[in-house]
Amino acid sequence: MKKSNIRYFIVLFNFLCAVFCPVISYGNIYEFEVKQGDTLSNIIREVGISATDAANAISAMQDIYNPGKIRVGDKIKISYSTLKTEGETNKILVGIDFSPSKLEKVYVRRADEDSFYAKKVEVPTAKRLVKASAQIESTLFGATKKSGIPFDIGNEFVKKYSYDVDFQRDLRKGNTLDVLYEEVVTPTGDVVGSGEILYANLELNDQSYPIYRFRTLDGSYGYYNEDGESIEKSFLRTPIDGARITSGFGKRRHPILGYNKMHKGLDFGAPQGTPIYAAGSGVVTKIGRNGGYGNYIQIRHGNGYSTAYAHLKGFKRGLKKGGNVKQGQIIGYVGTTGRSTGPHLHYEVLKHDRQINPLSIKTVAVNKLEGVQLGIYSQHVKMVKREVSKVDASNKVAVLEIN
Ligand SMILES: [Zn+2]
Repeated sequence: MKKSNIRYFIVLFNFLCAVFCPVISYGNIYEFEVKQGDTLSNIIREVGISATDAANAISAMQDIYNPGKIRVGDKIKISYSTLKTEGETNKILVGIDFSPSKLEKVYVRRADEDSFYAKKVEVPTAKRLVKASAQIESTLFGATKKSGIPFDIGNEFVKKYSYDVDFQRDLRKGNTLDVLYEEVVTPTGDVVGSGEILYANLELNDQSYPIYRFRTLDGSYGYYNEDGESIEKSFLRTPIDGARITSGFGKRRHPILGYNKMHKGLDFGAPQGTPIYAAGSGVVTKIGRNGGYGNYIQIRHGNGYSTAYAHLKGFKRGLKKGGNVKQGQIIGYVGTTGRSTGPHLHYEVLKHDRQINPLSIKTVAVNKLEGVQLGIYSQHVKMVKREVSKVDASNKVAVLEIN
């Protein structure tokens, strides 16, 4: 009998011999952690397995995974049987198992005396909901990191709020955020990624900004505030009702100074006292007399934008520098203070502190849920609030399994 046939015989009958053949032992497992300079072949040989077995196993693996890609720290499990004959011990490779990533497992098994087969299986994953809270000390990312909120989620959080909040400048120490998000986990509990944010809340100074992810009847997902308004918005098309533009953006002969001057905003003609609305949500950065602008308000929004309102008769009572305003909120009243020939609103949009043509920015209608959808949404909001309140806000806790 050829030596290879003997080995084939042994392997086939390993199972039957478990009890009766004391010279054979199996179910032997070697576990290795890959170190610098290791190759899969070295590792297999280190166990004492023949070069032929090693080569055959590696060649089978090559079809599904490049063994050259094993990395330092990977754990490789090698199973083998031992056969003792005439004082000689042979180790016969049975299988190789390892995980190239938390989401994949590769295994190699003996097929017959001189060949192996290999398979790659995807590790199934599930999503679970996690609630996390963070308190700002200096930066948002500092706070999320400290609370164990993944970077992806922190990043998404910033994006969602960027329409209303300038994270560089509006955050204060002590502001808090809550986020309910999906975590992708393997059956062994390894977190391998994050999914969507389902709910978030930002407590900014004296205002709270909860948002909810919601699927509308057309099947699309969006984020909405508590009133069912889409968080994706732009500035109001006009910051006052029913006013017409009396002077556009660009070079013009200045009505008072008499020479050509850049007009850095839009003028809206309107009677004294007409209410002026905040074109977008944000923080009041300037409020008061401002030279030729007269009574002036500047509001900082997200994404590098600010809006400014000039020649006002007066300001909305209670409005102060550093205060938060919501889109559409009354901030002041049309007047003719400063360098002005008659009652009008001079309105500016600034991007990174430079005036741009307000008509050049894309404006979208405020998308608000209505009717049946708003009803379903209100139920959804209640349900999410209930879930969120069940969990202690102090740290990351899985609240329920989904999927
Ligand atoms: Zn003007």
